[in-house]
Amino acid sequence: MRVELLTVGDELLLGDTINGNAAWLGRRLADHGVEVTRSVVVGDELDVIVAAVTTALERADAVITTGGLGPTYDDLTRDALAAAAGVPLVRDPDLERRLRERVARAGRVLQPMALRMADVPKGARVLANSAGSAPGLRVELPGGAVYALPGVPFEMRTIMDETVLPELARIAGLPAVARRTLRTSRMWESVIATRLAEVEAMDGVKLAYLPDPAEVKIRITVAGPDAAGRLAGVEAHVRTLLGSAVYGAEDESLDRVVHRLLAARGETVAAAESLTGGLIGAELTAMPGSSATFAGGMVTYATEAKQRLLGVPAKLLDEHGAVHPEVAAAMAAGVRGAIGATYGLAVTGVAGPDTQDGRPVGTVYAAVAGPGDSRTVVSPRLPVPGAGPEMRAVIRRMTVVHALELLRR
Ligand code: ATP
Ligand code: MG
Repeated sequence: MRVELLTVGDELLLGDTINGNAAWLGRRLADHGVEVTRSVVVGDELDVIVAAVTTALERADAVITTGGLGPTYDDLTRDALAAAAGVPLVRDPDLERRLRERVARAGRVLQPMALRMADVPKGARVLANSAGSAPGLRVELPGGAVYALPGVPFEMRTIMDETVLPELARIAGLPAVARRTLRTSRMWESVIATRLAEVEAMDGVKLAYLPDPAEVKIRITVAGPDAAGRLAGVEAHVRTLLGSAVYGAEDESLDRVVHRLLAARGETVAAAESLTGGLIGAELTAMPGSSATFAGGMVTYATEAKQRLLGVPAKLLDEHGAVHPEVAAAMAAGVRGAIGATYGLAVTGVAGPDTQDGRPVGTVYAAVAGPGDSRTVVSPRLPVPGAGPEMRAVIRRMTVVHALELLRR
């Protein structure tokens, strides 16, 4: 069963609205074993919608559209479907009655234009909308079925879950697909892909890499008989090949992993941040219950603050500047003592766009001070993919992940 998506709306083309409907539909359908093979965006233009639906059905068994079912004259999807099917629009008495009741209940006056929402292409099936006014429509065309849904995300999702998904999943049969997402850090996408080449070559196994600046998610898809059973074996194999680079699975983020590790040992952490300006503290307090493991943080941005608040020796700062591994180590020890925690975690570095004390952009040092020997981890210069002010956010994000990683070891 192959399905194509057609999201309709000028606002999507102009970038006023992010195409959340396509993202949600893609994910939802995949979870139910329905394969989405193409996704197209078109504006509010009758001919374009007709052509898009018609050509989509030359390839796929069904098309799901969203948007353009409202009452205004730029809502053209129902007209387009009638044109594609070569049938007139007819007023559905049942829909008209419900529309009038809805409007009366709200104490409003029905605008004649609103009655457009009671028009359906002759022969179409109405998909009830328990969440709003405009119903969905199912129109049978020569190439297959079109499911037309409203653009309002909540209404679209409601009709999808109540009516369309059960119907499509039934036609598609049992999902012979199982998926698992593993989360990694500290390893390049290309290195991961090289190590996993043998997995990728396995029958019925697909790997997708979803990188963000600091982490790579790997989505494993196994298709075929006993997909779920095989998936467990493939996941174990991937974990062996990647070792400790895998830190979690599904929505288990790095801060959650760190929290869990610390909580299990009854330990706490305090953070001293320079270039991240509090992002590490924000991350370590994101989840409920974080007070059990996060003691506090200090943002020591100015060089003098590192000296005054954390006791970083002036000599060290004079000699090396603020971006130096020994400074990171001293900050970590300083914040550990000042706040009183099992570990002190510190970062110092250059987020750019300008260099600092002669250190290039992306030079970052992170350190952990613990109950045993203080441990400094000297980060190599972060790989800066390009130049310019936008890299600042990337470097800061990478620094957060780099620092949290230290707590995982
Ligand atoms: P209604 O029947 O409620 O008027 P409609 O079918 O006419 O809905 P639109 O007018 O196209 O839908 O869009 C209604 C709202 O839904 C708008 O706020 C729009 O930004 C939002 N929307 C439309 N399409 C999408 C999409 N693909 N992703 C996310 N939001 C969307
Ligand atoms: Mg509309």
